[in-house]
Amino acid sequence: MDFKDQVVIVTGAGRGIGEEIAVQFAKEGAKVVVASLHGQECDSTVKKIASAKGKAIAVPCDVSSARDVKSLFEKTLREFGRVDVLVNNAGIFPFVPFKDMVEEQWDRVIGVNLKSVFLCSKEAASVMVKQGRGGKIVNISSIASIVGYPMLTHYCASKGGINGFTRALALELAPSKIRVNAVLPGGVKTPGVGELDEKTLKGIESSVPLARMGEPIDIANAVLFLASDKSDYITGQTLVVDGGSTAKD
Ligand code: NAP
Repeated sequence: MDFKDQVVIVTGAGRGIGEEIAVQFAKEGAKVVVASLHGQECDSTVKKIASAKGKAIAVPCDVSSARDVKSLFEKTLREFGRVDVLVNNAGIFPFVPFKDMVEEQWDRVIGVNLKSVFLCSKEAASVMVKQGRGGKIVNISSIASIVGYPMLTHYCASKGGINGFTRALALELAPSKIRVNAVLPGGVKTPGVGELDEKTLKGIESSVPLARMGEPIDIANAVLFLASDKSDYITGQTLVVDGGSTAKD
């Protein structure tokens, strides 16, 4: 898959799945915008890409803030002059029992996981339509959008929202040849998940038909496919990448 000179924005690319997606796009020749909450995390991904002779810039931002997202796209256009691919990957998954959940916790998860997808896609669509060359938006949802997880009601709601948003936006943007799809990972080994206790991790692993947790590269491979010409006739779809977990029952 050749992304030579294409400009790709990856949110939440400071670590985990987003970092791997950014690294893989750069390897395929893309100019990558690493957009993550903390400057230090952004810089470390950019350094990794630069050490492999790739091209990337760091743009620290909070994707739940309209002002930050506007400035992310302004900086991207100033530096690279166009946007070809947006990957909405930034996300948080704090475990909170529903009985203890307060409005601020609900709003934060919906803001970072779902409102961010609206804000970034709105900016991206506006630029892509003006460019007149089509474009691709890939949203990172989760299998938590199709099966329930206790203590993650806010997270499951946010990811379900992404699936609906993906289908609806794909229809609106199809006439402009902008494709919109989502990837639904199962359990993937990332720093975010590393914070889970050993028992929970073992539980996830033993339940996967392919008998391993996902690696960030498993998700990156699906994202690059959906952003490439190889998926030219695919839009509005939700692609599950979970080692078969949701194929059971
Ligand atoms: P992670 O290791 O915790 O990394 C999350 C990334 O998102 C970090 O780079 C973080 O920024 C960034 N981020 C968090 N809040 C942000 C904000 N407000 N603005 C901008 N960036 C923000 O998570 P992950 O496991 O790689 O997950 C990535 C995506 O995959 C998420 O959408 C998650 O829901 C989804 N997913 C993950 C799994 C899994 O098992 N890992 C399964 C299904 C779906 P900093 O680095 O700057 O702190």
